[in-house]
Amino acid sequence: MNVREITAKSVLIKHKKIDSWFVSRYGMNLYRGCAHNCAYCDGRSERYQVEGVFGEDVSVKTNALEVLRKELKPIGRRVKLNPGYIMLGGGVGDSYQPVEEKYQLTRKTLQLLCEYRWPVHVLTKSTLVERDIDIIERINQQNKAIVSFSFSSTNDEISAVLEPHVPPPSERLKTLAAFKRKGIACGMFLLPVIPFITDTPELISEALRRAHEIGVDFVIFGGMTLKSGKQQEYFFSLLRHNQPELLARYEQIYGDNKWGQATEEYYSTINSIFSELCKKYKITRRIPPVLYSGILSENDLVIVMLEHLDYFLRVEGKRSSFGYAAYSISKLNKPLSSVKNTLREIRGIGEKTEKIILEILETKNSAYYSSLS
Ligand code: SF4
Repeated sequence: MNVREITAKSVLIKHKKIDSWFVSRYGMNLYRGCAHNCAYCDGRSERYQVEGVFGEDVSVKTNALEVLRKELKPIGRRVKLNPGYIMLGGGVGDSYQPVEEKYQLTRKTLQLLCEYRWPVHVLTKSTLVERDIDIIERINQQNKAIVSFSFSSTNDEISAVLEPHVPPPSERLKTLAAFKRKGIACGMFLLPVIPFITDTPELISEALRRAHEIGVDFVIFGGMTLKSGKQQEYFFSLLRHNQPELLARYEQIYGDNKWGQATEEYYSTINSIFSELCKKYKITRRIPPVLYSGILSENDLVIVMLEHLDYFLRVEGKRSSFGYAAYSISKLNKPLSSVKNTLREIRGIGEKTEKIILEILETKNSAYYSSLS
């Protein structure tokens, strides 16, 4: 691994709209590039412009703490930061990849976020996160913390081929259980499942069974995207070597989609398998409102819940306008409660959506949401 020290002008990545997958308004990449080098990682795609050879070169933002402190400091800030989880992980490099052992940027960032009393959501594939259980526990006590692990399956043998440089799923599950024992909310991101390899009902069921055993608070599921260029070339070279018979099937589902999306039909098949199995194991498929209803602004709370509703309906093959309503609300620059009587004037909001929004504003919950989740 080659490490390059760089200085960053900014650290916090501000989302235009709250991210309802992670319930976060802000994210960050303390490292660019990832020595974990998972075969399917889309961080390797040209789209993200990660410098150097993905999997071998890692850039470290050595001044990240200094910059972040300025970004978080509320004094003199004209526009206040929006409340919500700050996301550590995802993006173009795991926050707990090996270089973290030396630089400890993630640990120091958690200390800073604890000092500023921000809720934190950590997503990783590395058991090194357990080193920071003390700070994460403190964050959880004063505000809230979520620790999530990502998996393409919970099968150790398959993982050794697809994710050769991360701890096996069995170890990741043990670490999740350790966080659960501390009373910290935990999530499984079963994402991405790999077409024709880890997307089988047996493997999905096995992952959910183990998530259920630990008592994770939610499982978020998704299929793989495969962008043409470096990501596809790298993944196909591995496939050519290990399971060449699958190549034609990949061509069939990905074609030359410019975003690397598989066909709707493929995603809908695996989503229904997942949703059916969730009923069996009583698994929640999105971060539950109890983990964020006391944290978000009223508009963000409504946006997240409407987007979740949109997801629940779409995986059942039903049409929904909740996503459009959520988008319209994200463009609103006043609190929803101040326009309570004219909600129907907002695009995408009809009678049913209006009722749901009013209920969320009043109770921070929705009976309809509970019936679908
Ligand atoms: S751990 Fe995440 S960011 Fe790192 S290579 Fe694997 S998928 Fe990519």
